[in-house]
Amino acid sequence: MNFQAPEGTKDITPEQVVLWNRLETAARETFARFGYEEVRTPIFEYTALFHKSSGETTDIVEKEMFTFGDPEDKKGTYSLRPELTPGTIRALIEGGLFAKKNFWKVWYLGPAFRKERPQKGRYRQFTQIGVEAAGSPDPLVDAETMVLFAEILKAVGVTAWELRVNSIGCKECRPVYREALKNHIRPLLPTLDENCNRRFERNVFRILDCKVDADKLKDAPKAIDHLCQACKDHMAVVEASLKACEVPYRIDSRIVRGLDYYTRTVYEFSSSALGSQNALAGGGRYDTLVGSMGGPDVGSVGFAAGVERILLAMGGEAVPPAPDFFAVAAGDVSRSDVFKIVVDLRRKGLSGDLDFEARSVKAQMRSANKTGARYALFIGPEEVQKGVIKLKDMKDGTEKAVFHEEAVNILRGGKK
Ligand code: AMP
Repeated sequence: MNFQAPEGTKDITPEQVVLWNRLETAARETFARFGYEEVRTPIFEYTALFHKSSGETTDIVEKEMFTFGDPEDKKGTYSLRPELTPGTIRALIEGGLFAKKNFWKVWYLGPAFRKERPQKGRYRQFTQIGVEAAGSPDPLVDAETMVLFAEILKAVGVTAWELRVNSIGCKECRPVYREALKNHIRPLLPTLDENCNRRFERNVFRILDCKVDADKLKDAPKAIDHLCQACKDHMAVVEASLKACEVPYRIDSRIVRGLDYYTRTVYEFSSSALGSQNALAGGGRYDTLVGSMGGPDVGSVGFAAGVERILLAMGGEAVPPAPDFFAVAAGDVSRSDVFKIVVDLRRKGLSGDLDFEARSVKAQMRSANKTGARYALFIGPEEVQKGVIKLKDMKDGTEKAVFHEEAVNILRGGKK
């Protein structure tokens, strides 16, 4: 019987890991430069956490969570996390971190799970990398998260991206906008699909997300035209900061983000290098989330990006780094002696391998070639006895026997 991976999951092969690590290293380095610290939280949480934070009426919570456990249990069921923000904020609050300092800039990387219909770029297990800057209402922080993600894209060579930004207001101006939107959409309801009709009462902003009836909604009132003065001022600083940092963006009134907790700034990065699933990252400000989860009443902002989508946008050849050497056991040398030399070299920081199948010298040379090693090391009984290694430069074919110490120098520096 042949087993298959569960629908909507992807294996990461050693070749893909090379690209993955390039992204992860670039991201870690960028986060550090921007002053973000790493956090790691469980991959499942009590289901109630997601109901409270992501929102009852969002697709993610309504239909896409993998939930398990005993519903009769006092604390309720568990759900695999469909996103990492709720767990991260919970961890900051539960760990009492806000008592230590009132502004936390953290980042995370880890799997998320959504029961979606799988397609290219859309999986049931995928990986999110993201940040939460929790504890400041400053619009400069909104801009910082966007600049930060643009820097990560630059570091991994993704150039075909677009940033769309919007402001959806705050608890003062959002209700006014909600009414204006409802009044505009109400007469259109009979012409809109079932999903939009359902959203009308539950979460009217999400109708703007609708792909099917997008045309019918093109004249819908815009949140950005209904902002209170404080929200307008906030947005003006965000825009000015993006311009000052030369991060290109455009205002798009259709960005509402699917989750309930957003206030003011919302944004999405997308890539024209991807197909229909072209969103690279989504984020925004959520000024009420921390307070509503039992933490201090502080504003936060963050984004989550899809690692698999960034990898697709990076494309390109993933070439694993070539090892420094491949050791060839020549003649009737003891393979244990060769093994010991290889381990010694590895302990000195060099990378390389030997043949584990006791094959002929010719076959071992083929392996040396395949690995792309810079040097082949010939070790026969004579070399062992004299304490030397015969180095063959795989680029120019020259050979030379040297003592171990000299071999280490050559392998380290690539000099002959
Ligand atoms: P969201 O919070 O839904 O906007 O997700 C943030 C980012 O995660 C998106 O911009 C995508 O890059 C990525 N993402 C979301 N859902 C999936 C999925 N099912 N498969 C792969 N990536 C996803």
